Amino acid sequence: MVDIPSIFGSLVFNDEVMKARLPKDVYESLHRTIESGTPLELNVARVVADAMKDWAIEKGATHYTHWFQPMTGITAEKHDSFLKPTKDGKVIMKFSENALVHGEPDASSFPNGGLRATFEARGYTAWDPTSYAFIKDDSLCIPTAFCSYGGDTLDKKTPLLRSMDALNKQALRILKLFGNTDVKRVNATVGAEQEYFLIDKKMYETRMDLVHCGRTLFGAKPPKGQEMEDHYFGAIKHRVSEFMKELDVELWKLGVPSKTKHNEAAPAQHELAPVFTTVNLATDQNQLTMELMKSLADKHNLACLLHEKPFANVNGSGKHDNWSISTDTGVNLLEPGETPYENAQFLLFLVAVIKAVDEYQDLLRLSAASAGNDHRLGANEAPPAIVSIFLGDELTEILDAVEKNVSYKGKKKSRFELGAMVLPSFPKDTTDRNRTSSFAFTGNKFEFRMLGSSFSIACTNYIINTIVAEALKGFADKLEKSTDFNKDLGNLVAKTIKEHKRIIYNGNSYSEEWVSEAEKRGLSNLKSTVEALATFTDEKNVKLFESHKILRRAEIESRQEILLESYYKTLNIEALTMLEMAKKQILPAVLMYERKLVKMALHKKQLNMGLDMSVELDMIKKLTDHGKNFYELIDKLDSDLITIKDKHASIMETATYYRDVILTDMNAMRAVVDELELLVAKDYWPFPTYSDLLYSVK
Ligand code: ADP
Ligand code: MG
Repeated sequence: MVDIPSIFGSLVFNDEVMKARLPKDVYESLHRTIESGTPLELNVARVVADAMKDWAIEKGATHYTHWFQPMTGITAEKHDSFLKPTKDGKVIMKFSENALVHGEPDASSFPNGGLRATFEARGYTAWDPTSYAFIKDDSLCIPTAFCSYGGDTLDKKTPLLRSMDALNKQALRILKLFGNTDVKRVNATVGAEQEYFLIDKKMYETRMDLVHCGRTLFGAKPPKGQEMEDHYFGAIKHRVSEFMKELDVELWKLGVPSKTKHNEAAPAQHELAPVFTTVNLATDQNQLTMELMKSLADKHNLACLLHEKPFANVNGSGKHDNWSISTDTGVNLLEPGETPYENAQFLLFLVAVIKAVDEYQDLLRLSAASAGNDHRLGANEAPPAIVSIFLGDELTEILDAVEKNVSYKGKKKSRFELGAMVLPSFPKDTTDRNRTSSFAFTGNKFEFRMLGSSFSIACTNYIINTIVAEALKGFADKLEKSTDFNKDLGNLVAKTIKEHKRIIYNGNSYSEEWVSEAEKRGLSNLKSTVEALATFTDEKNVKLFESHKILRRAEIESRQEILLESYYKTLNIEALTMLEMAKKQILPAVLMYERKLVKMALHKKQLNMGLDMSVELDMIKKLTDHGKNFYELIDKLDSDLITIKDKHASIMETATYYRDVILTDMNAMRAVVDELELLVAKDYWPFPTYSDLLYSVK
């Protein structure tokens, strides 16, 4: 049996270890740095580095690495051993303060969106002491931020850390207005639910599309998909359960509080949810979770698919970002509270989120934009590309009463007074859940449901933190000048509701009705990644990020470029993989099967017995017709891919071309191949079908 408390965090250089292993003054100095962000002195770093090294070696580590999160969306590491040769030809184990605090990876090998010329190839990683060092694969991993020689951010972590400070600063101003002076720090808290697929590794390896692209580019609908609804929360198969158990243990050792595991809606689909924590830790932990899922699956002869849409016609995988804000005194600011005073504060934070989401719908949308997620958003399984907020009927009615300054039906008061009202408590259980909304209030937190399963949660969260900080700033600027706080507060809340209630929608967001209703309300519907990313550099967005010191214009432009490039490069790899499979595997298989039928027909003819050949002839005709169509589509995709190479197009034009031309070609080719799959005998089909893949783990 696993003794969870004793293994939990055993591979983490956490507070407990620091306290036990560092001299008191060093521990306190490091703590000050962690809590208030004061720079770390080198002599402190020297002692910390030494203690870390001794601890890591005791745990079996031989190497150390700076562990960072470049714009690739996955983590990067470069391992150095602790070994240092001595004059007498021997070695000692050494980890200097400089090696702890800085690293110099070659920045030109990571996506930088034109921020860094190659002659300045140096990049810097800098220790982020707010996230604990840990041991993975016999290496001491130091979580770091990554920037260029010129100081431009090249990673996902830096803007997140900055956004945490921005949110903290503005939230503290608001709390002060309510007389909360004991709070020193406000942090966003996040719990990221992670969906994934598990299939058999041998089968996975036979499909070039899964290996190169993480998703199937071909595959007819299986006879049994998810229509029986028998997989969700169903009993977990033995092999999967063994994998999940080991995953939990490894995550616990790394201090990741993995809590919930279950089967998801589609066959072979599962979910893991950790207990929430401070947003930058939640981000690191989610990256580790994804990484471990992949490597442990491999060990169990399974393949873990984190792609948003590995299979057409069955649900894809998302990641739910549960977000709230809480104080260092342990108060969740989105908890409605039990006294009028707490309620008023809650309502102000609530309307700040409503205003933020309404004003920056485009940013939230783009934080979930990728080639993979385009297959999912708007399909009947994930929220549409329209951002809206679900509040539930009760809270919506309360806001309605506040806006109109009338009594709320649940209360007896004749006129509504914000400061004196006691709110009812809201149900937090699943009964009142609307699972179609992109941004849903779930009792004491919001759940952003648009994110794709393979995403880093950093971008979504620095955006939520920043837009909420901006709304709070506007409120604080007004209320700090107020001479009648209660009256001005009531008016501000009412005015904010009036101006931004269009973003609230409690109905079914998957319905056609909502699409036209949203259009009437003037909400944006950025259908594809290309349209969504175009809004990144809109003046209002640049102003937002610059004013809160999250990203400068050049950094935003570089991010936009990196994301657009990643979009079309993904499609390019998919198109080339499709062509390879089409030419080398599918077309030969179709022709071989056709040959077999032709031979059979000829054979019957030679027998000269007047045997009926209509089946063979009909099949041959169908295969020939589809085959011809298929052959032409191969040619078309080939030449459309060449056309783009001839152009000197901008990144935006290239991405648009891939969306409009290449993706259309790919969809057309897939449709024909999926028809062919149903015509060709199983023995002839060159790779496992959907039924084989989805039910491959027994
Ligand atoms: P469901 O699937 O019903 O939405 P789960 O239990 O799978 O619920 O996931 C809910 C997630 O929300 C968990 O990761 C949980 O820790 C997280 N969560 C709960 N409270 C908060 C909070 N105050 N801030 C951030 N996340 C939270
Ligand atoms: Mg869940």
